[in-house]
Amino acid sequence: MMDNQTMMQYFEWYLPEDGQHWKRLEEQAAALKKAGISMVWLPPAYKGAAGSSSVGYDVYDMYDLGEFDQKGTVATKYGTKEEYLRAVEQLQKNGIAVICDVVINHRMGADGTEDVKVWEELGTDRNHDIGEQQIRAWTKYDFPGRAGKYSNFRWNASHFSGIDWDDRAQRGGIFRFAGKNWNRETDTENGSYDYLMGTDLDTDHPEVIRETHDWGKWYLDTVHMDGLRLDAVKHIGFDFYREWIKDMCAYSKKPLFIVGEYWTPEVGKLTHYLDVTERNLSLFDVPLHFKFLVAATSDGNFDMRTLYDDTLTGVDPEHAVTFVDNHDTQPGQALCSFIPAWFKPHAYALILLRAVGIPCVFYGDYYGIPHDGVPGVAELPALLNIRESCAYGEEHLYFDDASLVGFTREGDAGHKASGAVVLMTDSTGGSKRMYAGTRLAGCRMVDAMGKRQETVIIGEDGWGEFFVDDGSVSVWVMEYLGDGVHSLKELE
Ligand code: CA
Repeated sequence: MMDNQTMMQYFEWYLPEDGQHWKRLEEQAAALKKAGISMVWLPPAYKGAAGSSSVGYDVYDMYDLGEFDQKGTVATKYGTKEEYLRAVEQLQKNGIAVICDVVINHRMGADGTEDVKVWEELGTDRNHDIGEQQIRAWTKYDFPGRAGKYSNFRWNASHFSGIDWDDRAQRGGIFRFAGKNWNRETDTENGSYDYLMGTDLDTDHPEVIRETHDWGKWYLDTVHMDGLRLDAVKHIGFDFYREWIKDMCAYSKKPLFIVGEYWTPEVGKLTHYLDVTERNLSLFDVPLHFKFLVAATSDGNFDMRTLYDDTLTGVDPEHAVTFVDNHDTQPGQALCSFIPAWFKPHAYALILLRAVGIPCVFYGDYYGIPHDGVPGVAELPALLNIRESCAYGEEHLYFDDASLVGFTREGDAGHKASGAVVLMTDSTGGSKRMYAGTRLAGCRMVDAMGKRQETVIIGEDGWGEFFVDDGSVSVWVMEYLGDGVHSLKELE
């Protein structure tokens, strides 16, 4: 019987800049497995422009995994290449799949400038040229600190589509390099959202295509990861990743789990992307994150029946990676849309215990975010445990009330203590009769969240009446009777 898969995003934005992250991860591998984590998504491991304080998205050299003296440091913020590879190996030894972050859209921290003819564009309409001019652009990437090891490829202005800084005029702007066009197949926000930041890769350029494919294969050969998380896919020509993924999957000696970050609340854009890429990857369910945010900030007036409307989990659950928050939504970050604390247990119960989507737990929710005084979600370890041992079998949905909603899992024969009943409200508490299946008939159920003290006994017909407090979530599981015995009739 297959166990549930659970991913953890093993970083938040403000981790200590002590170069010890890979070491900590290596030490935590066994504990993570025990906590119910089966996949870990690691932050970008290559050298960023900000050197030892780079989170990793300001990519400088993708061949420098903390090995070369570049940007003022050998190690990255997270440690050295050796430590990185050791952490990966330790995770895999513990049965945890390793998902590596891939940032292909842009580069930062160039080694030199070039004078480039450009068209300046309106920031809000990238198809609107303001005027032609000559700028001095940081576009030369020679990687002198690496001196050609692993790859002799050197980047220059011809490999990029645009930049946002004129070093001669000391002026910002959106500058499209003359002779280049924004990729038509990107997100349509701002006319074309090909340009995000830094020097933007021209993913139509044959040399860029060859180099990024070569790098991908080198990365697979070097790290032996089990999957990839693709950054900022809406800013990259959709056909580029369709072909790149095909190539990586064909090259890899094992199946790769691939998830893309397409940041939009519009589910239609996600399904369009999946269509164009022939569904060879999953996407984070960003619309569901925004549903959580609206539900949590509507003073109890959100219609909980609509929670899954227009979400990827609602329309294409097979390709949905569900999450509550991440390094971009946390306080102080670009997309800051952090789910308020009171709703976190609701959101985690939904992503962890429903039968659909692969859930991704945020490091900051598990360990807390000391930088902002945010504590970890107290209920999270219990919910992870319930996902691992109870959240199996047929699912019955009760999203049938504007505030009081729930679902049940019947459990299955392969997981002894399985079966669970979830009831939650964004408003006034109450009770709901729900069908949990006849496998659980006669079973005594208790609230694992510890909010409700009564015991619910499932009827012979498989139905029970469950309770929840105001603004709360209750998760009903079999009462544990001690000595490895749960309250399940067939086991008595
Ligand atoms: Ca781009």
